[in-house]
Amino acid sequence: MDRINSRDRALRERAEAVIPGGMYGHQAVGLLPDDYPQFFEKGEGAHIWDVDGRRYLDFMCAYGPNLFGYANPQIDAAYVRQLGLGDTLTGPTALMVEMAEAMVAMVSHAGWAMFCKNGTDATSMALTIARAHTRRKTVIRAKGAYHGAAAWCTPRPTGIIDTDRAHQIFCDYNDVASLEEAVRQAGDDLACIFAAPFKHDAFIDQAEPDLAYARRVREICDETGALLIIDDVRAGLRLARDCSWANIGVQPDLSSWGKCIANGHPISALLGSEKARKAAASIFATGSFWYQAAPMAAGLETLRLVRDTDYLERITALGQRLRDGLAERATTAGFSFRQTGPVTMPLFLFEDDPDLRKGFCFSSEMLARGVYVHPWHNMFLCAAMTEADIDGALEAAEGAFGVLKRQGPGLAPVAKLAFLSAGAR
Ligand SMILES: *Cc1c(COP(=O)(O)O)cnc(C)c1O
Repeated sequence: MDRINSRDRALRERAEAVIPGGMYGHQAVGLLPDDYPQFFEKGEGAHIWDVDGRRYLDFMCAYGPNLFGYANPQIDAAYVRQLGLGDTLTGPTALMVEMAEAMVAMVSHAGWAMFCKNGTDATSMALTIARAHTRRKTVIRAKGAYHGAAAWCTPRPTGIIDTDRAHQIFCDYNDVASLEEAVRQAGDDLACIFAAPFKHDAFIDQAEPDLAYARRVREICDETGALLIIDDVRAGLRLARDCSWANIGVQPDLSSWGKCIANGHPISALLGSEKARKAAASIFATGSFWYQAAPMAAGLETLRLVRDTDYLERITALGQRLRDGLAERATTAGFSFRQTGPVTMPLFLFEDDPDLRKGFCFSSEMLARGVYVHPWHNMFLCAAMTEADIDGALEAAEGAFGVLKRQGPGLAPVAKLAFLSAGAR
């Protein structure tokens, strides 16, 4: 392994000297099996290459941003063309208005759009606007749901003080009684309710939104005047060509977008309904790079592909092919293999695998066969994948299940993860 991983190993050693912990955030050292590469060289279509030249079919899609393929020719041409004209300028270009028009036209609840860089910018801005709109403080959100890495929402509370987290009440996703209890606690101070489009927490099975829960969230917001915020940063455009809850007929007041809206180029967005327009105009929202024109050019091209192609139908069919094929192979190998969430954003967990040793072994064996999967985070399909790619992944899975079956009780525990998974379970 050392031989084939040699450039990656060398970079990790150098990183340890100059990057705290060698790496941080969702790529922090120890969160993935040791044989996973930390550094990559390039991406093209549905594939990534690590720094040791190994190619993988990539089911992480950069944790979401890759929707139409890495280095997509049309999107990147639009990006490069705009770079040549100007990117970060003293003010925005006309593309900002065009991008706002395109998003408002696409998302049925939206009457306006604001642009920022990261998903965290958009969710934080949503919170501020809800508080400005209601002149109230309390936010209700679901336990374990990710909304970004700012002080108010980071999943790791190290360095965070109580007042950063003040005025937040947690409920259980899809549990109406716990939602109503949170609303009771909020009293007359409820500013907003955050909802993920579906439950996509790490380490546990994903869950579709329960219709009764979604409708109750909407009703409560209507009754109290609080704003309903859908955090579509991760799921946006992989479930619908609209806000993800449009699929179940529930419209939010605000929705946050990011990750794939410019196919990997840095831009995120907050969309809102008329009700919230005045409050949105009243807050101070900005950043040095928020008017960047080239990501907007890429975003416009991405949204054109969203409108004009059958990408959603294709990734849905590919996701179903993957799910059915994996279910069949897992059953044949004798594994209880749980595949949850929408087929375009699958998560795999093994039954009876509390410290994820089976998941780590399976993932490593997939990696060795040229398929990059994740042992505890949801994955993503992209429109550059083909049926042949999926069939190749299924063949890899057959081999991986085989190895797992032979190794069985001899698998080593995954110690480094215990602290994280324990918190999430
Ligand atoms: C990734 C993510 C965010 C944060 O987006 P960043 O661009 O990483 O700041 C917020 N909400 C959800 C649901 C996400 O998946």
